[in-house]
Amino acid sequence: MVERPSILLVTLDTTRADAIGPDAKGVETPSFNALVPQGMRFRAAYCAVPQTLPSHTSMMTGLYAGGHGVHENARHLADTTPLLAERLHAAGYKTAAFISAFALAKRFGLARGFDVWDEDFGDNRAERNAQETTERALAFLHQQHPSQPLFLWVHYWDPHYPYTPPEPFRTKYAKNLYYGEVAFMDQQLGRLVAAFRQSAKQPVAMIFVGDHGEGLGEHGEQQHGNLMYQATMHVPLLLVGPGVKAGTSDTPVSTRRIFHTILDWAGIDATNSLRGTGNEHVVAAEAMKAFLDYGWQPQVMAVEGTRKAILAGSLEVYDVAADPGETHNLAPGASLTREQRATLRDYPIPSLAEASNATAPADAEERKKLASLGYVTADVKPVVRKDAPRPADMAPLFPILDEAAALFVREEYAKSIPLLQEILVKDPHNLDAALRLATAESALGRDQEAVAAYERAQAIAPDSPDVRTYLALHYAKTKDWQKAEPMLEQVLAQTPDKVPAIEALAMIREREGRLPDALALLQKLYTLRAPSGDELAHLGALAMQVGDTNAAVAAFEKVPGHDLELGVLYLDQHRFPEARDALDRVPPSHPDYPMVLFKRAQVAVLLHEPDAPARIEAAKQHANAMTRELIAHERLFQ
Ligand SMILES: [Zn+2]
Repeated sequence: MVERPSILLVTLDTTRADAIGPDAKGVETPSFNALVPQGMRFRAAYCAVPQTLPSHTSMMTGLYAGGHGVHENARHLADTTPLLAERLHAAGYKTAAFISAFALAKRFGLARGFDVWDEDFGDNRAERNAQETTERALAFLHQQHPSQPLFLWVHYWDPHYPYTPPEPFRTKYAKNLYYGEVAFMDQQLGRLVAAFRQSAKQPVAMIFVGDHGEGLGEHGEQQHGNLMYQATMHVPLLLVGPGVKAGTSDTPVSTRRIFHTILDWAGIDATNSLRGTGNEHVVAAEAMKAFLDYGWQPQVMAVEGTRKAILAGSLEVYDVAADPGETHNLAPGASLTREQRATLRDYPIPSLAEASNATAPADAEERKKLASLGYVTADVKPVVRKDAPRPADMAPLFPILDEAAALFVREEYAKSIPLLQEILVKDPHNLDAALRLATAESALGRDQEAVAAYERAQAIAPDSPDVRTYLALHYAKTKDWQKAEPMLEQVLAQTPDKVPAIEALAMIREREGRLPDALALLQKLYTLRAPSGDELAHLGALAMQVGDTNAAVAAFEKVPGHDLELGVLYLDQHRFPEARDALDRVPPSHPDYPMVLFKRAQVAVLLHEPDAPARIEAAKQHANAMTRELIAHERLFQ
């Protein structure tokens, strides 16, 4: 039997195919170049989605995004989808991953199957550079005893915007800092490869791949994620290892086949491996971000040979060999093969409802982290319309959309407003922008402007529960709060699990004095999302007021610092020993300590404790106006 190799997978974030390797112009990447003669370089490799998390998810599952469902960043892979590391782990591999950005954090679902998962970016940071990640990976490698084959995945983030390479790359590449980031990453790559070769069980196999490219202004796109041109879809891919001939291949391949290739090396399954023949004829890909966020046209790609088709409402066809800049659209005269047409036609377009359900429920801190990496997703379901714009026609709007969304997430509302207004001039049906504008006005206390903006959103989406919820939330915090009540009731009749609507209606019920209703709403709310400590304490107090002792106990038992309340409640429930223990935990510094002494004396009597008389005396001595009255009428003390 052939010895199974240790396998190194290095994913190079945001690295264009033409920015690394011997053919790259204007940038030197000696570490990568030294590997090229040892392996097979795929010169027509395509990512499955031009965004970090979905692209990596395809490499880790072998599926296109239409199959794994992670269409954009900040979504979560279903826990039932098998992952490469799980397969390798089950086959006896030691598995380790070193991640360089929060976009791939464990919470998004790719960590399953890894013995070691390292995403320690340091305090309040969302990323780390190639040197930091390499140090961690090297420290790990040096501890390995090479008796077991190793699967090591290292992810480098550096070429991602903003471009801030360290010296000497900053000076050397002052005119093109993006290249400076690639060159710095390449330097670290050299250290990693040397250490892997030295420390891992032999033989070794290695894959180096870009997760997507970078627009750098081509077709109006500075970064990546919105369009499907070569700048962002075409990525470097190099295989080195057993059974891999040295050379180059110009057959189009999808990077999702990294999954199959690694399973092949591990002796698990050779189907679809890039080592074998069995090439797929058509390479597919998608870019759904603008569709899912703004309701623009969904985009699907199908490449066969040198002919690349992009379907986004209308069809574009390019010969990427003769016209790598994709400036000359061959459609509609271009003849596509039957298989290519079928790929475009049959590629599954996600349903908007399904897609928004897959969103990882991010809290405010996590949303800020994602925003700091340039990733902001919409909060509302967009309006789908027949005349939806093609993303390629809207390219000038991308930077404005990104900046407006980032300002909004950072709660810089005043700065976001002019940008949101500009978006609505150019994309009048953009529900996300209309709602954010309304929310920003509302947050700044500009009621008239807020209501006008909500009315505008309502005109875009007359039946949207999102719009009704947000307008009701606005009313709920103004003097018109009574207007919110019927609106929220209607929202909850339609969508009973709408968290913000439940929150707002619970607040209104409390204000109206309908406390049992408020309590029921809050109990439902906390089955949908976890409450904070303060929220639990509030729930407990509300339950006490309503007289729901069980609910109050359940709430207070989960938050520290409520032993007086617990003591009172246990006493109510005739759980005297527990009441005693709870009251004994209350420190004398408690502002209501006279009440503690009074209750503790009651418990002492009920438990027939010998020091009960002394406790009654202490309660009397330290009584305040309230407890003096209670003590005077307490029959237990007679
Ligand atoms: Zn990426």
